[in-house]
Amino acid sequence: MNLLAHEEVVVRRGRRSGIYIVVSIHSTALGPSLGGLRLWRYGALGDAIADGLRLSEAMTYKAAAAGLDLGGGKAVICVPPERELPPEDRRDLMLDVGDIVQFLEGRYVTAEDVGTGTEDMVVIRERTEYVAGLPIDSGGSGDPSPITARGVESAIRASCEHRYGTDDLAGRRVAVVGLGHVGSRLAERLTSDGAELSVSDIDPGKREIAEALGARWLDPADAVTADCELLAPCALGGAIDRDNVELLRCEIVCGAANNVLAERSLADSLAEREILYAPDFIANAGGLINVYSEVHSLDRDRIDSLVDGIGEALGRVFEAAETRSVTPLAAARALAEERLGAAREGALPAHTASV
Ligand code: NAD
Repeated sequence: MNLLAHEEVVVRRGRRSGIYIVVSIHSTALGPSLGGLRLWRYGALGDAIADGLRLSEAMTYKAAAAGLDLGGGKAVICVPPERELPPEDRRDLMLDVGDIVQFLEGRYVTAEDVGTGTEDMVVIRERTEYVAGLPIDSGGSGDPSPITARGVESAIRASCEHRYGTDDLAGRRVAVVGLGHVGSRLAERLTSDGAELSVSDIDPGKREIAEALGARWLDPADAVTADCELLAPCALGGAIDRDNVELLRCEIVCGAANNVLAERSLADSLAEREILYAPDFIANAGGLINVYSEVHSLDRDRIDSLVDGIGEALGRVFEAAETRSVTPLAAARALAEERLGAAREGALPAHTASV
């Protein structure tokens, strides 16, 4: 990561809350920077700034690779470890966030992230219009999970097309690890597609989902290394690490989880083992498209076509990876960088959304 590449970083102590808020804008080359508002108990302001710098850069790549007219940004609230946050203080804090977002005059658009939710966005909107991820009854796009699952299914089809020459999922042996908001919906879609499904979750209560879908239940301790054709990690990050990469028994990895690979170099290990890896930030871009639809007031049909286009975008990444003899992860980052470079030189029209 290049820590000197950011366009703008604002650090301000909220005048109502007294809590530090950091807004990090990595790039607005493709459009307003967008990224969630993270509320976390950092030990030091420097840790919050470092997190914001890292996360905002990741958002730039995610939007660029997905073909969206969005830049990368992130806001981070640095709550002192011992500080209580009763409802009235939280409200003051969100109003402070709203003031900072408004100060940036649209160069940064905020949304929910770890530690914040749609109700916080409603408070922020009292101070600024540059906020997305609102509840449906407040004019927002609501829960992004169904759209994310639809996009992951599109990515799974593209991965199968590349690997097997067909995107037909009937009879395809798929393991979905993590049956939360996205994983459970993805599992439903794959069942309808006729896939032979295995599923797992650390929450034993999720066995009911497996039974309802007629899916095989996997012990979560070794679900990632289950014998299958396609592994869909849909739990937390770091599902594939140095310890288990040599034990994988799948041919494709394509899921919803952010940061599936514990470290970037694992993309090389997967390639050496001839396991096709669909970069997570492309496969799970449906969530970002959902928020994007609020920023650009897109209708349902346009959202669906963007989400269904995730598979085409991924297909282009696989082709570029083959042509350049690099991993799909390296190809995806290079394609994003090319798009950003063209935008910086003014070679792209203002709106080029074409996932
Ligand atoms: P969630 O919290 O609803 O679901 C996560 C599920 O994973 C839970 O059921 C949890 O019990 C399970 N889990 C945790 N650790 C596990 C393990 N080791 N093995 C098996 N199961 C485990 O989260 P979500 O909204 O479904 O998101 C899932 C992933 O997708 C996350 O990495 C998230 O960052 C990413 N993502 C989500 C969206 C979205 O629209 N919600 C968009 C983009 C990316």
